[in-house]
Amino acid sequence: MTAKTRQTQSFDVMVLGAGIVGVCTALHLRRLGLDVALIDRKHPGEEASFGNAGIVQRNGFVPHRMPTRPLQLLGIALGRSSAVSVDPVTVARLLPWLKAYHRAGSERGAEAYSRIIAPLRAFAVDEHLDLARTTNADRFYRQGGWLHLFRSETGYRDSEIERQYARVFGVAYDELTESDLGALEPGLQADGLRAVHWLESCSVSNPGAVVDAYWRGFIREGGRYFRGDARKLGRQRGSWRLDCERCDAFAPHAVVAMGAWSVDLLGLLGETYPLAVKRGYHMHYRPRIGASLSRPVVDVENGFALTPTDNGIRLTTGVELAPRDAPPNPAVLKLAKRRAEDLFPLGRSLNDEIWMGSRPCLPDSLPLVGASPVTPGLWLNSGHGHDGFTLGPITGRLLAAMIAGNRPFLDTAGLSPARFAV
Ligand SMILES: Cc1cc2nc3c(=O)[nH]c(=O)nc-3n(C[C@H](O)[C@H](O)[C@H](O)COP(=O)(O)OP(=O)(O)OC[C@H]3O[C@@H](n4cnc5c(N)ncnc54)[C@H](O)[C@@H]3O)c2cc1C
Repeated sequence: MTAKTRQTQSFDVMVLGAGIVGVCTALHLRRLGLDVALIDRKHPGEEASFGNAGIVQRNGFVPHRMPTRPLQLLGIALGRSSAVSVDPVTVARLLPWLKAYHRAGSERGAEAYSRIIAPLRAFAVDEHLDLARTTNADRFYRQGGWLHLFRSETGYRDSEIERQYARVFGVAYDELTESDLGALEPGLQADGLRAVHWLESCSVSNPGAVVDAYWRGFIREGGRYFRGDARKLGRQRGSWRLDCERCDAFAPHAVVAMGAWSVDLLGLLGETYPLAVKRGYHMHYRPRIGASLSRPVVDVENGFALTPTDNGIRLTTGVELAPRDAPPNPAVLKLAKRRAEDLFPLGRSLNDEIWMGSRPCLPDSLPLVGASPVTPGLWLNSGHGHDGFTLGPITGRLLAAMIAGNRPFLDTAGLSPARFAV
């Protein structure tokens, strides 16, 4: 586009990053009557929000933890754990982060986490269904909950704390024997397994298509979308300015919603947050002998999930601690596949290449939602870790209310970026 045809346009807010979090924030801002520019270097929903397991989790009251049992640690060290794989140099670099993460996983940490996350989880499913209804995305949603599978008594006992909190917060679940599980999911090889059925969660058959539908809803309702590199964000005449592909955009408010890349921009603006990356992979398979699944299942001890999707059974892996931008490591997926085949006849892979995504993670497993404590007019909605697909709609609504000057309908103090201010 020539300089003559470029627009210069003023907005109320520019939202930087169009994953589930950015798209939901932009859509809610628009619904509050604000002029919104959503900006991404790619088409919306092509990073972590594309390739996840698609679970909208009503439960989840204990922060994610790294394994600590000696045998688990040995498995990780020998590269035989499908739950966690590590690059030693990255682990050394992340030591302070890992210490804080370990502290947050203590009993006291879990208590604090559960109090902050419980109100968000209480609304997460309904927030999704509301957006889905108004953006023609409801066809991707399925009820029926999801399953936690356990291969050992130790694994089952270790997860009792999650069920304890579920009882405290009134979240329904069923404990399943091997035969209950076989009846519920006949495609699984249920021998020797125990399971917990989380009844109130839902899931989607295509997370990327859901983000795309929400984004189309945003455009239909008058939102604007531009391609651009958010790292070029600057200040001019008391406003934010970003030179995008077709527009020179100005706005008094900017929202950083760039997932694992948020640190790139925040660093340039002189703001530091302990945001680490946990990488994960997926591949789709056509099951053998007509086997199927009717809901996502997660092998808790081995860290992988199997989700029925529009493109076959999606196997998503556990956590890899490695540099965000390093090439994918196919060994991680290979190991998860080997473990998954004990449970389900995965059959032929349906993609030429494996998919890799980056979960943006804070040590307390809570996102950053609110005003920057340092930079006026800058807002953060990032760091959703393992839960961004679940929480994108609700944190988008909460942040939109704050920017519009309204009182959010839930207490957001525990999510404030100021908790990391030094
Ligand atoms: C294997 C796996 C399984 C998962 N399963 C689940 C699940 O079942 N349920 C759940 O709730 N969560 C799950 N998650 C987590 C969830 O996917 C993430 O938390 C969520 O997608 C993060 O969303 P986001 O919008 O913050 O980031 P992203 O979706 O990564 O979006 C960030 C956006 O910022 C853009 N961007 C980056 N840099 C720039 C730049 N310089 N300029 C402009 N734009 C830029 C990117 O292009 C991208 O569109 C899973 C994650 C993985 C990896």
